Amino acid sequence: MSWKHIRGQDAAVRFFLSAHKEKRIGHAYLFVGAPGVGKGTFGRELAKALLCDNVRERLEACDQCPSCHQADAGTHPDLFLAGRPSNNVELPIEVVRELCGQLALKPMRGGRKIGILEDADDLNDASANAFLKTLEEPPPGSILILIGGAAAETQLPTIVSRCQIVRFAPLPPAVMKELLAERGVSDRAKVERLARLSGGSIGQALALEDEVLWKFRQDLLAALAADRPDSVKLAEQWKHFVEDAGKDAGSQRRRASLLVRMLVETFQFALRASLGNTPTGLEPQEAKLVEGLARRLGPEKLLAWVERTLDADVQIDRKVQLILVLEALAAALGNRNVVTAPRGA
Ligand SMILES: [Zn+2]
Repeated sequence: MSWKHIRGQDAAVRFFLSAHKEKRIGHAYLFVGAPGVGKGTFGRELAKALLCDNVRERLEACDQCPSCHQADAGTHPDLFLAGRPSNNVELPIEVVRELCGQLALKPMRGGRKIGILEDADDLNDASANAFLKTLEEPPPGSILILIGGAAAETQLPTIVSRCQIVRFAPLPPAVMKELLAERGVSDRAKVERLARLSGGSIGQALALEDEVLWKFRQDLLAALAADRPDSVKLAEQWKHFVEDAGKDAGSQRRRASLLVRMLVETFQFALRASLGNTPTGLEPQEAKLVEGLARRLGPEKLLAWVERTLDADVQIDRKVQLILVLEALAAALGNRNVVTAPRGA
């Protein structure tokens, strides 16, 4: 694998190509962008290129040399990958200490040493502080790549101020369609829907391919289109949906974000319908429900719902307790007159 396999992230590729050419590769990078747009894949590819024996003028892994083979096999002695253990809510300080210790040793193959930390948005104050020495006095030849969350603003300031920020864009629809086709999703209508609903994240699109999620989406649409949506019932359904994603906080947050995107998309469809445009890209049954929702609410209320739902997305990103976010949102959209979002943590 080399840059030609990194798709939809041309700006990030160009950034590192010119940094290498101008000999100003830094010591610490923080990658930000929505989950599932390829930040981790890019980080591993970048590390491979930085360690490749054959790199000269242009920074690109050759995929042929012993270093590239070791990087691909996960046995490179100067490449260290770390992340949050699946049973932890936060990144424990031990993980950070171990990674910093590895970076402090002399490179085995003589060049650089690279550490990649996934889930960097799950650092807490203690584990972030454990990074400070390495960030302020980087061991010679060491490079640290932190894979963060959707926005630099949700990272701890101690980290943000000491790293170069590299932003990753949502994948363009054409790239999404290519990637889905390569992963065996061939039904064209399904590819269209997945590309549209996944917010430019191949990770989310593949998660959405799950039939259980489609069923949930149908039920969600029906519940919202009802004359008087029951907010207590809505909140219950949403809680189950989010908890079904798994025990760890990251999976639940991603699932909650997906729910929010489904809601926003539904309201946007309804908004278009309420302004007299026939919604396209929906199944006939879905279109009927969306038109019902449009008639019941009208454009002004729908717009308010879109905004209220986007507020919830910000709350999810800021790690406000998910149950609170979902209950408040269900109350706002249901039959109770609650419109305020819970405050950020
Ligand atoms: Zn190579």
